[in-house]
Amino acid sequence: MLHAVTLIPGDGTGPEITEATRRVLEATGVQFDWDIRQAGIEMLAKYGTVLPDDVLDSIKQTKVALKGPITTPVGKGFRSANVALRKKLDLYANLRPAKTYKGLRSRYEHIDLIIVRENTEDLYAGIEFQRGTPELEEMIETIARTTGIHLSHDSAISIKCISEQASRRIVKFAFEYARCHGRRKVTAVHKSNIMKFSDGLFLATAHEVAKEYPDIQFEDRIVDNMCMQLVQKPELYDVLVLPNLYGDIISDLSAGLIGGLGVAPGANIGSQYAVFEPVHGSAPKYAKQNKVNPMAMMFSGVLMLRHLGEEDAANRLEQAISQVIVEGKWLTYDLKPRPDDPTAVGTSQVADAVIEKLSKL
Ligand code: NAD
Repeated sequence: MLHAVTLIPGDGTGPEITEATRRVLEATGVQFDWDIRQAGIEMLAKYGTVLPDDVLDSIKQTKVALKGPITTPVGKGFRSANVALRKKLDLYANLRPAKTYKGLRSRYEHIDLIIVRENTEDLYAGIEFQRGTPELEEMIETIARTTGIHLSHDSAISIKCISEQASRRIVKFAFEYARCHGRRKVTAVHKSNIMKFSDGLFLATAHEVAKEYPDIQFEDRIVDNMCMQLVQKPELYDVLVLPNLYGDIISDLSAGLIGGLGVAPGANIGSQYAVFEPVHGSAPKYAKQNKVNPMAMMFSGVLMLRHLGEEDAANRLEQAISQVIVEGKWLTYDLKPRPDDPTAVGTSQVADAVIEKLSKL
């Protein structure tokens, strides 16, 4: 079967890791009809946006995309193209597995966590009021009138919004994932002791949804305690479901537990579309150097193969990557004991090694 997939190389190191990933995906024998679409910092000058409309149009056709990272220009009033993509396609669930593979340098063994991050609201919704603006003054007055709290006029404000509908669908997603993948437990992570209304709503909704899944254990943890627990005893946890910001932070923490961002994959899933991408960013300082690790994007490709129903190819690709890790010969600098290790190889050599392993599976 031929799978139509939108391929977005992105910018920074994105094009190199995308090319490496495209090569290993094709080496599984699965047939792809790639629709290559450009997004990223280089599109700004041409189109005045890092995310041209044709990218979204293509994903609406193919329903599936594999995406390299895209840089968010700092402090120039640009919103993140990554956040925009997730919002415009309503990719409400961000799935970020964190799994230890034998041979990865990590302080832990046997970690197999699934982070399910809400992707559309919370402090990421972009409701912000800049210091010194009339809008901020109006907000400060409204807050004083409605709460009696007088904020300092040199403040800036970001609004955290959590809805029942978005909480319900993300918690349901976590439980459905747990059920379909033979997982035993879902943990909801929050800070409802302080944010009683927003996180309180998330937690109350999670408790309600949990009642529909008596076959799966449910518990909750306050986010600060969760951070400590994940460092001390990560093996106690299975599927975590979190509002957007905590999900972002905890998924990087979890990437740290398993050997770093170079091996941490991700998927953004909605009811109609899915976009697969590594957790890490565009690492622009290493662009065009054939240096960074393509494995996080390759593992995102494994998730994509599963989504496309290509289970056998997914298992073979995962096995081939894990064999390369165990062998330890064809690894990029980030998986070496020291970043200046002279035996570290480049992005394309990792792809060659994975393809070689695939040819024997
Ligand atoms: P980053 O993930 O690009 O880099 C953080 C650190 O991890 C750096 O030291 C980098 O060298 C290293 N690293 C990242 N990917 C690696 C890989 N594949 N192999 C080896 N080492 C790797 O994070 P940042 O520096 O905070 O962000 C850079 C840009 O990327 C920013 O503009 C940010 O907004 C953007 N970003 C995009 C996405 C996305 O496209 N989904 C996600 C996160 C950040």
